[in-house]
Amino acid sequence: MTCLECGLEVDGEIVSYEKVDGVWTTVGAKHYACRQNADWRQFRADHRLTTRLMLDAIFNADQERYGEIRADVARVNAAVKKFESEVWFDSAPVIGECKYTGRPVRARVNSSLQTFVESFQSRASGKSKEVEMLTFISAGCVVITLQTSGADVTLIAAEGEQTERMGLQGINATAAEAVALIEAMAHWRAFDVKPNDHVRLM
Ligand SMILES: [Zn+2]
Repeated sequence: MTCLECGLEVDGEIVSYEKVDGVWTTVGAKHYACRQNADWRQFRADHRLTTRLMLDAIFNADQERYGEIRADVARVNAAVKKFESEVWFDSAPVIGECKYTGRPVRARVNSSLQTFVESFQSRASGKSKEVEMLTFISAGCVVITLQTSGADVTLIAAEGEQTERMGLQGINATAAEAVALIEAMAHWRAFDVKPNDHVRLM
């Protein structure tokens, strides 16, 4: 098999996936480095963050070329943390800190998005204007995907836990699009949320 990027022979086990019409599809083989270079060039062209790019930036912390990507991810992470304290926990008072991580622990309030999402126990979805929220609870985790046409961001939180440990699970959006999706959740009460067994992990 030959590499889709450089045309040289490649180990058949290194397979590249691309999102085609929203579905991850096998497109052929690429050398690992060729795949990384192609993803990085794509970011230079469209400034879209992907989960794969985010991981490349984390695992290649010494590479200067990922600096802009790390800065964009940090911007999205800042929006995640603001969302977590102000919306997910509805600015509930801090009642302590986690003895392992030192992170703040919030009181649980009925008005929070956390209480609302966890009341569905399993899968639910809802929409307001252009933003759709999909939630999935499994194995002690709450996975929240926020999407609009052409952009999505996925957050992960611990089910039933009040410690501030929400994180970015996946992304397919520019930093600005991701931040806008997260900030739209300030208006989650306007979302028409219902149980939805068709929600799958993305
Ligand atoms: Zn190659």
